[in-house]
Amino acid sequence: MKKLILAVAVTALATTAMAQNNDFDYTVDRFADIEVLRYQVPGFEELSLQQKELVYYLTEAALNGRDILFDQNCKYNLMVRQTLEEIYRNYRGSKTDKDYIAFEKYLKQVWFGNGIHHHYSMDKFIPEFSKDFFDKQFAALPGAKKRADEKKVLDRVIFDPSFMAKRVNQADGEDLILTSACNMYEGVTQKEVEDFYNNLKDTTDLTPISWGLNCKVVKRNGKIVEEPYKVGGLYSKAIEKIVYWLQKAATVAENEGQRAYINELIKFYQTGSLKTFDDYSIMWAEETQSDVDFINGFIESYGDPLGMTGSWEGMVNFKDKAASRRSKLISENAQYFESNSPVDNRFKKKNVKGVSAKVITAAILAGDSYPSTPIGINLPNSNWIRAAHGSKSVSIDNITDAYNKVAAGTGFNEEFAYSNVEVELMKKYLDLADALHTDLHECLGHASGQLLPGVDQDALKAYGSSLEEGRADLFALYYLADPKLVELGIFPNMDTYKAEYYKYIMNGLMTQLTRIVPGKDIEEAHMRNRKFISEWCYQHGKKDNVIEYVKRDGKTYVRINDYEKLRGLFAQLLAEVQRIKSEGDYEAGRQLVETYGVKVDPAIHKEVLARYEGLNIAPYKGFVNPIYTPVYDKNGKITDIKISYTENYIDQMLRYGQDYSPLTR
Ligand code: ZN
Repeated sequence: MKKLILAVAVTALATTAMAQNNDFDYTVDRFADIEVLRYQVPGFEELSLQQKELVYYLTEAALNGRDILFDQNCKYNLMVRQTLEEIYRNYRGSKTDKDYIAFEKYLKQVWFGNGIHHHYSMDKFIPEFSKDFFDKQFAALPGAKKRADEKKVLDRVIFDPSFMAKRVNQADGEDLILTSACNMYEGVTQKEVEDFYNNLKDTTDLTPISWGLNCKVVKRNGKIVEEPYKVGGLYSKAIEKIVYWLQKAATVAENEGQRAYINELIKFYQTGSLKTFDDYSIMWAEETQSDVDFINGFIESYGDPLGMTGSWEGMVNFKDKAASRRSKLISENAQYFESNSPVDNRFKKKNVKGVSAKVITAAILAGDSYPSTPIGINLPNSNWIRAAHGSKSVSIDNITDAYNKVAAGTGFNEEFAYSNVEVELMKKYLDLADALHTDLHECLGHASGQLLPGVDQDALKAYGSSLEEGRADLFALYYLADPKLVELGIFPNMDTYKAEYYKYIMNGLMTQLTRIVPGKDIEEAHMRNRKFISEWCYQHGKKDNVIEYVKRDGKTYVRINDYEKLRGLFAQLLAEVQRIKSEGDYEAGRQLVETYGVKVDPAIHKEVLARYEGLNIAPYKGFVNPIYTPVYDKNGKITDIKISYTENYIDQMLRYGQDYSPLTR
């Protein structure tokens, strides 16, 4: 639940301390609502040979989990992907054929969504090629005659828009399991699953495991059971490969602490024990000496309508030492921020523990972080582990930098900002203010506050993710305007924060609507949180005219009239959201999100979409990975790992489908 994704991939000026190649070609591909980029990995060459080897083994461990995510997202995904790839390779017709072009677009979308649903809206992709084209291409595949049953399923999965229409349904009042196409439950209702876990949960347990994190819940002979993902269980073939590469990684770990947590993760994959996963998470959170680090496992639960099962995710990274200074300053002052926050003292941590903060360079993105990827991460997710053992918080600067480089010069801010004043403000300060927002959100926001004794950490249910992201955002927004940042030398002056305030409100009220198709509500957790914060502040600031909508030449703009009062509103809302979380006040949380975070004004929506279309910017972005190639000596010993950035999107996806697909036939 602790993932920060890009609000809107737009900042005016890109500045970076990293030594990067300025002629680097960031743009890779463009289709549907997607732009695919590549990112640089500055500093990789400077790693020691042992560190490079470690990175290499970990990237292999990461890439081998890809099939797991496809299958978790929908049980037909692997079948669809494999068949589409077969057809793609087997195709002998004209590449300018209308159906072929539409087919290629659909395949690219399926790759990007890790399945048949959009990675963000969760809606099923609608194919624009004809059924006739598909029939012919399928019939031309070797052995097609024997695959009639498979064909029947594929027809329905691909061409029936009402079948498996939504990957994760969050609509209030519906059975969220029965109406979601994800593959984390089978043959069970939401009520049955909730009862099942309520029976298992011991509310007096102060160190509960993350129930359901690594399993599918099914009904067998009328009984509800968990089927764990592990060696010898579900996804065994993929997990065995992951374990193999993790074992190699353990041999070149940077220190004993790192070796120990890698081995503990292996043990978790072998046993499926969530207690072992907690032990691993504690060891991982407490080990902060290594430069190279990674995520590999069932981590974030956005893919589960009930927010329990983790989607498989992988990422390998190493420390960006120069840039880490910034976030280190923040975390060294963690207690100041916690103690001075506007929330009720009962909900504050008396001692904020070990918020380790650093800036990292991503070396590989995998599973749920690929191709669409976060720019900041804060883990582990377990509340009691975070409280007792701290958490690791990172900002991923080489990804942010790629976004910024590409976004510069799109004309976005010029189109939507109220006036030149705001445009200039963002040009001057938004990169820095954005980076600080990420630091504060990840290092301090998620780590701040505490639950009252006995409050279930899942009490906010389907609203938990939105409220938690909102809480971290509010914490960050409140402190961006604290003179402390200027005092610490992080911000140059008291105008800097205004760039982020303006962008946040403009985005929350207007520009994030570019990601919603007409007629739909806001569903994604981060979008809901940005909307409920912006809308609540707009409504509650009305009497003082803190934020207003201004019409000019038929276009609507957001204007902030009083930045200090806006900070006061953030403080008020932060106190309330913290109360909701600390007390587990489900009803108040539901009201807040449903009242301010879900509904969209259709007129504004329409206008924003039209203005955005004129700019011709892809609303969603993602990345291809670099290729790592080991160099061996005569005796088969690795002497170097070479990195290259030459691969395009289609080639990478086809290669992954070939080389990293342990779960397909
Ligand atoms: Zn977050």
